[in-house]
Amino acid sequence: MHSLRVDLGQRSYPIHIGTGILADPALFAPILNKGPVAIVTDDNVAPLYLETLQQTLKALHKAPLVITLPAGEASKSLDNIQEITGLLLNAGYGRDCTLCALGGGVVGDIAGFAAAVYQRGVSYIQVPTTLLAMVDSSVGGKTGVNHPLGKNMIGAFYQPRAVIADTDTLDSLPDREFRSGLAEVIKYGLINDQGFFSWLEDHMDAVLARAADALVKVIGHSCKDKAEVVARDELEGGLRAILNLGHTFGHAIEAATGYGRYLHGEAVAIGMVMAADLSRRLDLIRESEQNRIYALIKGAGLPTLAPALPPADYLRFMRVDKKAESGQVRFILLRGIGSAVITGDVPPAAVLQTLQAFM
Ligand code: NAD
Ligand code: ZN
Repeated sequence: MHSLRVDLGQRSYPIHIGTGILADPALFAPILNKGPVAIVTDDNVAPLYLETLQQTLKALHKAPLVITLPAGEASKSLDNIQEITGLLLNAGYGRDCTLCALGGGVVGDIAGFAAAVYQRGVSYIQVPTTLLAMVDSSVGGKTGVNHPLGKNMIGAFYQPRAVIADTDTLDSLPDREFRSGLAEVIKYGLINDQGFFSWLEDHMDAVLARAADALVKVIGHSCKDKAEVVARDELEGGLRAILNLGHTFGHAIEAATGYGRYLHGEAVAIGMVMAADLSRRLDLIRESEQNRIYALIKGAGLPTLAPALPPADYLRFMRVDKKAESGQVRFILLRGIGSAVITGDVPPAAVLQTLQAFM
């Protein structure tokens, strides 16, 4: 097992990564409050891993309330916050309870937000079961739900008590979901970890084969990189925005294609290819670096081209992206592999050329 900490002073917490750790009561014992436990999960994950987590909690004399949501993004709604908090109230859960989010980013985001608002805040534990949730959504304390007018528009920064990432749960993850999570992994190498990027170039076969030791390395390294950025800028005052590399283009691709055509990580992969191209056009990186980035993303089985739509369609969505401040689109660009910069100062003609080059 590999353990690390997210260092946020009073709100610091551990991340444990390893095989079979979902079944280890000793890991859960120190992170549970004295009150009862509720597990929030979805109906894909429940048949696979709920029993194991229940057994672990039973060994600690907890008989958890189980709340199972339909799998999918539509479950991230305020209605379900009402539902979850209603079930907790009916069960008589007080402020000393603990929520466990067992599932992907959808479950993590909604359970975390429920924990943030239930009785003004109760403790929660992230038990991520997708690669994306292990390397991204379970770390950093962004929680929330969607509003009909916008994704993630209602939420809170609220840190978990711990993250327990059992890599065995990734065995059942569909290939496309796994590769989509890899896009965020590659992102960490690009924004602040050149050594990790090189390691990924050398070990992509083992990663794609989901070799246990490669997974622990990938998840541990990604969490460390994200934790470092979060520790320096918990509430996204500035630096944390570098985590959005590839996301300005990526969100526009998701929106312009009506969501659903691309998984988030797939759109981010294309977005990172575009961000690298734009960085090279602005002479921030060399062509050889751009080629390495392209090769790694393609080698991970991720898409590198966006659908050929009128560029104006993409540009419109880039302007409404919430990263656009005072009408100016902000880009996260690269100064090299392992070094990102945030800039609003990008010639529109260069953005257009980049869009046209990758569709
Ligand atoms: P998800 O939670 O929808 O999971 C993807 C699919 O895989 C679902 O159908 C789920 O039921 C299934 N699944 C989960 N674990 C499985 C397993 N072990 N085996 C088989 N199937 C499994 O999606 P996701 O990609 O994990 O997360 C996406 C969500 O995360 C989005 O809502 C996004 O907004 C959010 N997110 C949040 C943050 C953050 O910082 N809070 C960061 C990135 C993304
Ligand atoms: Zn993302």
